[in-house]
Amino acid sequence: MVNITRNPTREVRIGSVSIGNGHRIAVQSMTATKTSDIDATVALVHLLEQAGADVVRIAVDSKKDAEALAEIRKQTAANLSVDLQENYRLVSQVAPHVDKVRYNPGHLYHHEKDKPWQEKVELIAATARDHDCAIRVGVNCGSVDPAQKEKFDPADSITPMLESAWDHCRYLDSIQFERFCVSLKDSDPAKVVEVNQRFADRRPDIPLHLGVTEAGLPPEGVIKTRIAFEQLIGRGIGDTVRVSLTVPNSEKGQEIQAGREILQDIHEGRVRSVVSLNENGINIISCPSCSRVENEAFVELAQNVKQMTAYAAEHAITIAVMGCRVNGPGETDDADLGLWCGPNYVNLKKGTTALGAFGYDEILVRLKQELDLLIADSTG
Ligand code: SF4
Repeated sequence: MVNITRNPTREVRIGSVSIGNGHRIAVQSMTATKTSDIDATVALVHLLEQAGADVVRIAVDSKKDAEALAEIRKQTAANLSVDLQENYRLVSQVAPHVDKVRYNPGHLYHHEKDKPWQEKVELIAATARDHDCAIRVGVNCGSVDPAQKEKFDPADSITPMLESAWDHCRYLDSIQFERFCVSLKDSDPAKVVEVNQRFADRRPDIPLHLGVTEAGLPPEGVIKTRIAFEQLIGRGIGDTVRVSLTVPNSEKGQEIQAGREILQDIHEGRVRSVVSLNENGINIISCPSCSRVENEAFVELAQNVKQMTAYAAEHAITIAVMGCRVNGPGETDDADLGLWCGPNYVNLKKGTTALGAFGYDEILVRLKQELDLLIADSTG
């Protein structure tokens, strides 16, 4: 066993599991069913639990989802976490049924724009306290607090994430709410390493939830995540992890398996030499899907994009494939070509320029045309 000195993080209890303060690193996953489909969601929670998930996260977007959650809670003893998404006020409806709530500082602006974020966080924290819940402050590269973003160079995506996370930690500390962890996620493993390292340098006491967003299909998605986790966990950073993979619901247990394998390998010293990922080759990123996926053809589309683009393996081009219109447009901004799914159409863009919406049966041909043009530009 490798002797890793972990950061001296605070202990945070999430239902029957505790993270931080030297506790075993917890592995979590998320349901990707429609939360209002109670039977399908409960079945997936059970599947993840059987795969060994310490915590299972569920997305709640609406009152209907929140009502379904109350029923889901009755049918499982799993440690449940909920993503509050844009509507932070749903916290009062969901907190009684879960063990942790996650809010994204960048999403607190979407409702009641004139209300200071501190008031919103105060409500979330007070409700979490009343219902014995932990909190995760989940900062994401694709949805950073706009007030932080405008203070920094647009090319610097990391500092606004950090400033946002530090502000929220300071605020939660100031209202004596200590039962929280933080996540700082990006789809680029190198950025995940840098942002978490810098966060932990300043706040080694706050437990970190590690993950690479939109890591994509296995096996590449597992490799990207492994690269980031090796660098961070090897330095004692990280108290809970999620491996986000684009796989059908029936195979979601792979996220837990992959997480446990990576952790075990790190602790037994079986690490790969860490290199920048695929800087000279094609990079396909795809979201792990969640209840917001608008068409189940998304997973197959991601697989087809990977197959179709294999001929461009030698070109340093990033293609992002996302499952919904809510996060898709923002999360694809940094890709050379971005696709995000609607119910009947797939939207395509090149850099930040929209190229239109295409049927599921047309999109691959259109994508190939754009890819060929990019290759011609880079070699011509
Ligand atoms: S891009 Fe949309 S579907 Fe994919 S994980 Fe994010 S919110 Fe869910």
